[in-house]
Amino acid sequence: MSSEVIEMGGEKYLLTISKDITDRKQTEETLRMYLVAMNASIDGLAITGQDEEYVYLNAAHAQIYGYDDPEEIIGKTWRDLYDAEEITRIEQEVLPRLREEGRWRGEAIGKRRGGSTFYQELSLTQMAGNRIVSAVRDITERKLAVEKIRRLNEELEQRVIERTAQLEAANQDLKSFAYSVSHDLRAPLRAINGFAQIIARRHGDSLNEEAQHYFGNIVTASAHMSQLIDDLLLYSRVGRQAVRRQPVPLGALLAQVAANLSDRVAETGAHFSLPDDLPIVSGDHTLLTQVFTNLFDNALVYRRPGVVPRVVVKSQTKTDAFIISISDNGIGIPPEFHEKIFSIFQRLHSQEEYPGTGIGLAIVKKAAGLMGGQVWVESVVGQGSTFYVELPREAREVK
Ligand code: ADP
Repeated sequence: MSSEVIEMGGEKYLLTISKDITDRKQTEETLRMYLVAMNASIDGLAITGQDEEYVYLNAAHAQIYGYDDPEEIIGKTWRDLYDAEEITRIEQEVLPRLREEGRWRGEAIGKRRGGSTFYQELSLTQMAGNRIVSAVRDITERKLAVEKIRRLNEELEQRVIERTAQLEAANQDLKSFAYSVSHDLRAPLRAINGFAQIIARRHGDSLNEEAQHYFGNIVTASAHMSQLIDDLLLYSRVGRQAVRRQPVPLGALLAQVAANLSDRVAETGAHFSLPDDLPIVSGDHTLLTQVFTNLFDNALVYRRPGVVPRVVVKSQTKTDAFIISISDNGIGIPPEFHEKIFSIFQRLHSQEEYPGTGIGLAIVKKAAGLMGGQVWVESVVGQGSTFYVELPREAREVK
């Protein structure tokens, strides 16, 4: 409002001119509100002008770039806040997209006062008159954490690879060791056995009963050790040769395995029941023979006194596997041993009760595993056991 005194015809008048400025006031109020909001922002906000110079920036923007006061940046251009490499990248990748699409959002590497760099998330909006509004957030900590996790993962993977290689080498050493030790033990054992037998034969008469008993023990023990060595060698040999997968008609194979046990069958009066519809499986003939020989043999060995062994074989065809079951009516196995018996040297009986070496089922498990299959048992003590052999229908590669 403005007032002025003017004279007209000797009279004095007071001229008052007033304008309605409510609109302008409101606009100013809104602008002030926006400014307060921008200064309260945790993200850096800035506007660059016609010549890429900063015309406005909030306190957070200055802080993010390491300046105490926004005034210190006013007049600088955005190029003062990035290093040469990043400026080139922004010119080549960011600005063309910003001009084209009016917006750009992504990550960049900013330069703080003093020259250190930091990762930032950057959002740019193109305005009229070549003005650009930018919002910037320091994401260095997040990036470093992600990078650290990535590096740790990489290191972990590398360590797993190295450890696996070490384990494989150690495993290989152990296999060769077991093989050569068992192999080398054979000769001295044969000597012990041979000489013990010579003494028993030639000088048996001059030995008293006690000495004869001990010599008998030496012969029995060395026979057992010989069996142990043979089984150990067999165990280490399983899988030494490449697994040769071929179609094997199980019906013929099992009939042959049962026929091979004819001595024990005759001795026990055992009865085998093999179904007619046994499948043709994909497996290694030698390994399959090994698996079923050991299972059939055990079914005859672990029989109940006075009970004629009955061995019933069944097969089940699933979408991806054949399951062959071998059931006996023998002594059964307590539940706590259902897994353990597949480990090497695990036996539940003394030599006197049931002779054996505790290697047979370990061979069964190893052989089935080499063919991509698995084995398990269900059993009730005093009633019998059923061993299951699962073999994949499609040849699966197993190392
Ligand atoms: P071994 O027969 O030489 O002892 P195995 O590895 O073949 O070695 O068997 C391990 C143990 O599992 C046996 O000592 C026996 O206790 C138990 N076992 C295996 N098969 C049967 C079976 N069919 N019935 C009862 N027990 C069995």
